[in-house]
Amino acid sequence: MRDVHVHFLHGNPIGYNIDFFEGFIKAAQAAGLDEIYLLEHTHQFIEFERVYKPIKSYNDFQNEWITKRMNGSIDEYIGFIRKVKDIEYPVKVKFGLEVCYIPETADILRNILEKYDFDFLTGSVHWIDGWGFDHRGQKEIWESKNIEEVYRRYYNIMFQLCESGLFNGLAHPDSIKCFGYKPGIDLTGYYNKLAVLLNQYGMYAENSGGLHLNYSPDIELGLNSQLLSILRKNNVQIEAASDAHKQSDVGANIVELENMLKNE
Ligand SMILES: [Zn+2]
Ligand SMILES: [Zn+2]
Repeated sequence: MRDVHVHFLHGNPIGYNIDFFEGFIKAAQAAGLDEIYLLEHTHQFIEFERVYKPIKSYNDFQNEWITKRMNGSIDEYIGFIRKVKDIEYPVKVKFGLEVCYIPETADILRNILEKYDFDFLTGSVHWIDGWGFDHRGQKEIWESKNIEEVYRRYYNIMFQLCESGLFNGLAHPDSIKCFGYKPGIDLTGYYNKLAVLLNQYGMYAENSGGLHLNYSPDIELGLNSQLLSILRKNNVQIEAASDAHKQSDVGANIVELENMLKNE
């Protein structure tokens, strides 16, 4: 069993060190996992500053949010990976990034990512035309939005993310349901197109328990049933992902998320 979305240091002041890292190995073992994908958010690293320009300029809240979190260099992460990569552990570990895909700065992003060689890159959509739609501090902006248009933009940005060819995986598709706003339109066409693009670009999609774990247990676990069934019908590779932000959450809900991928 594998968990493909575990946040590693995530701004923790403890810094990159072996003891902290081995805590993840132990947590993974306790959760019955034989492989974890550790990742960091691109917004943690100063090297990605220019990518987030449209996000920071959207409003003061977002500017402060990004500025506060962008407090380290990717070189520290890479240095640590080099140190532990060849040590044998009972759990396999891949090291990567969760990369915010922001169409406005996609060219800058590409140039930055070209310099690095991670085990995997997972692309995520957290921003729609500058707005952090899944941020609690930005939730009220939903009220001024056309829900259908927000959903259309969300899917179109995910299509561009896939077509960029930069990524191995797509993080939490369906995160747009984070605050419970539902569109009055049929999304079948969008789901089908997403399935085709994921296959075309050789990407996996996450069946993520992130919203359920980190937002509210009232949110359904994983992908909505229609999206899941369309991805499965198209034989898209689907991977269970906890979106753990701390060691005690490694492997959270993974058995349930895996079970959703088995034939009835
Ligand atoms: Zn994410
Ligand atoms: Zn994440």
